[in-house]
Amino acid sequence: MRAMAIVGYGAPLQPVDLAEPPFGPGDVRIAVEYCGVCGTDVKIAEGVMPFSPTLALPHVPGHEIVGVVAEAGPDVPLAPGTRVVLYDYGTCGSCRSCVGGRETTCSRLRRRIGFTDPGGFQESVTVPWTLAVPLPDTVAPVAAAALSCAIGTAYRATVTLGQVRAGSTVAVVGAGGVGLHAAQIARAAGAATVVVEPSPQRRSAAVAAGARAVAGVEDLRALDDEIDVVVETSGHPAVVPGAVAAVAPGGRVVLVGYTPGAPMTLDAQDAVLKEVTVVAAATPRARTCGPRSRSSRAAR
Ligand SMILES: [Zn+2]
Ligand SMILES: [Zn+2]
Repeated sequence: MRAMAIVGYGAPLQPVDLAEPPFGPGDVRIAVEYCGVCGTDVKIAEGVMPFSPTLALPHVPGHEIVGVVAEAGPDVPLAPGTRVVLYDYGTCGSCRSCVGGRETTCSRLRRRIGFTDPGGFQESVTVPWTLAVPLPDTVAPVAAAALSCAIGTAYRATVTLGQVRAGSTVAVVGAGGVGLHAAQIARAAGAATVVVEPSPQRRSAAVAAGARAVAGVEDLRALDDEIDVVVETSGHPAVVPGAVAAVAPGGRVVLVGYTPGAPMTLDAQDAVLKEVTVVAAATPRARTCGPRSRSSRAAR
């Protein structure tokens, strides 16, 4: 089977020929149709992830996988030919986090496709069928690939934990991969959306996605709108006090971005008197990613 693999850290991926992996009764073999390239793939190839020192090379990365079921075990309810998008996060399904609907904090994680286990930069990938989610034919592979990565992260932060609903006004800080999707999800949920982003190029992308855009969090207070929810994806600790100041009384600040080793401060008086809810939205990556540079802060 042809694959593109990491054969040494810090070097370009190389074409390799690999044997088909073992196939169990609950497995599906997915013929890979499309695999997105994530910022995290670069970090895996650089060898800067927490698991990098023990990862066996050659390693095939790629976790934003769309494909077709080519082979299904006898216990599998997915027929060959089914189009699927893969969820890379192989949780235990029985720990306190999994049972409570917080799989992203599973304490007995079994596998991560493309991270610690072989990924999608190859002709086919074999995974437990529970990680394969059927995909309608109307959804293009390129649109579906990031569903379990940047889009799922943005949805959880915006709708599940941010409680954004029709009629809400939402400020999304940072127009990287997660932020641009958060802005579009908020808009699709019926919210008015403004993106906070210092880069003019990224502001243009936010405007093209249907949001208004301002350069800094302090600019939010100049708007007429009352901000119900701030979704913070930039990871800059200095943004947080401004986010609390900008949100309306009773509003929510959802933290998605973070910078390792850089604690944030907030004005407790401001937060208390306005009864602001500050909530943190975990992503699978939050527990496996190495230190992020400032330049990659919003590119997750
Ligand atoms: Zn990704
Ligand atoms: Zn679990």
